[in-house]
Amino acid sequence: MKVLVFNCGSSTLKFQLVEVSPLGAAGPKTRSLARGLVDRIGENATCSFARGGGEPHREPVAIDDHEQAVEEVLGWLARGWDGAQMELDAVGHRVVHGGDRFRTSVLIDDEVVAALDELSALAPLHNPACVSAIRAARETLGASMPMVAAFDTSFHHTVPDHAATYAIPYELVLRHKIRRYGFHGLAHRYLALRYAELTQRPEDEVDIITLHLGNGCSATAIRGGRSVETSMGFTPLEGLVMGTRSGDLDPAIIGFLSRKERLSVAEVEALLNERSGLLGVSGRSKDMRELLQRAPSDARSRLAVEIFCHRARKYVGAYLAVLGGANALIFSGGIGENSPEVRAQICAGMDWCGLRLDPELNQSRIGTEGLISPATAKLPAYVIPVDEERVIALETERLVVESR
Ligand code: AMP
Repeated sequence: MKVLVFNCGSSTLKFQLVEVSPLGAAGPKTRSLARGLVDRIGENATCSFARGGGEPHREPVAIDDHEQAVEEVLGWLARGWDGAQMELDAVGHRVVHGGDRFRTSVLIDDEVVAALDELSALAPLHNPACVSAIRAARETLGASMPMVAAFDTSFHHTVPDHAATYAIPYELVLRHKIRRYGFHGLAHRYLALRYAELTQRPEDEVDIITLHLGNGCSATAIRGGRSVETSMGFTPLEGLVMGTRSGDLDPAIIGFLSRKERLSVAEVEALLNERSGLLGVSGRSKDMRELLQRAPSDARSRLAVEIFCHRARKYVGAYLAVLGGANALIFSGGIGENSPEVRAQICAGMDWCGLRLDPELNQSRIGTEGLISPATAKLPAYVIPVDEERVIALETERLVVESR
């Protein structure tokens, strides 16, 4: 089955055309046929498209919104496929927030689109873009093209109540559906799946801690292949230090800042989401690469990196306690995949739990997959570059086959 996967960010549209082999077929279950990105939607957008593992073709285009971006991608696939008719069997969409209604991926129909519209209130930065991409794809490809929504929250629905419930008056929890939803679920799900493949372990025997460290960052404790605790919460603001988000902090700081700086609650929220984290502490940049370069001569850049690594390490310790030990620690995301320095800082002095990096392996593993610990380490660490589109393609194929 050929599945086109759309993955919307607030100003980006990533896509991948994935061939999924039928169940029971020999060889790898998925193969990437084409991929690309529409970047900076709304201001000087660029599109890049590549077939298979080929070189990307880039061009500037005028694209104002996600609907136009979807049309551009569908047009390119139809035109550029060696002049031949594009074969497409299904479309999978990444949707950030499934709320408490969508606990698994679903086939999209009019009712689902309406429900997704309602959920936009919970994820105003991300869901509206996903929903407009879904509408545009349905309009262009017609109602007969099966489509699936895969949610970033659904992997975390297995987090038990004692880990998902905030200790605030319970009536409010129920009235406003306040809970730890968790995000980046497709990425963490992929890491569990890929770790199982790499170590030839059944997925339900995977007990790991995953650190997805990019511009947004989250950690997840996975037991038996299921998420049992995760660092992002009701919104993606909680947990690890991120590019511009504070992550965990004393909630009393919100009222304090509001009073002292005469800011509205919305302004404090914006400050914590957009002007905090690595950017807020360093005063320089939200970009880890830049901060690592500045760190030797700039104390605040150094402090930002130290806070980032300390927080991540604290979560590793906490999740080892939650799981009662783990098979492995996995690094992913732009920072996790590319920065041996950050990985080394997070894992330094963790010999007590068997976590130790091999300096050479760690140094050589940049954007590539594999072990970064000595073969004998009791708690080995791996780098696994994330392929969310693959998880979405597999989910799409499963639901489409089941619906036939
Ligand atoms: P992502 O959101 O997954 O694309 O990750 C973006 C983050 O990865 C930014 O903070 C980048 O600075 C960081 N990053 C990318 N490459 C490197 C690198 N070689 N060393 C350190 N950080 C990197």
